[in-house]
Amino acid sequence: MKCENYVKLSFPALSRNESYARAAVGAFVSQLDPTVDELGSVKAAVSEAVTNCVVHAYSECETVGSINITARIKDEEVYIKITDKGCGIEDVKKAMEPLFTTKPELERSGLGFAVMESFTDNLKVRSRKDKGTTVTMEKIIKR
Ligand code: ATP
Ligand code: MG
Repeated sequence: MKCENYVKLSFPALSRNESYARAAVGAFVSQLDPTVDELGSVKAAVSEAVTNCVVHAYSECETVGSINITARIKDEEVYIKITDKGCGIEDVKKAMEPLFTTKPELERSGLGFAVMESFTDNLKVRSRKDKGTTVTMEKIIKR
């Protein structure tokens, strides 16, 4: 019988949690027996999204906000939703353009969304100013 499987993670937006998030989602996706490339792509995309929450979402906040991740497997598809309740993105279309960054002084290159797009099969970004951002990515693990 085919059934859906999922995990939910919640943790503070600290850079020391980035490798945890990457490894945890990678471990969950491993049950589909991905190739090394497929697994690497999923982990890289998750890393970029989580780093964005750490670097951008709460940069103006005095307290550390949280990051929520839901990873879901249905048949051979993986859906990963990464949510923060931070400052939001004013213009999502512009933010997703390669090389666009609001933090050049931190030596950011503005390629995070481009990496997420190239490493996944579908990427959606929903954001509201001062409410937060949700990045949803989809990856097909071919058997
Ligand atoms: P890089 O990822 O190459 O280090 P970057 O983070 O600036 O640089 P992207 O990841 O492509 O580049 O993001 C583009 C811009 O979108 C960011 O500079 C930032 O302004 C905005 N952004 C992305 N994610 C978030 C988020 N979760 N909350 C608020 N703003 C965000
Ligand atoms: Mg980034």
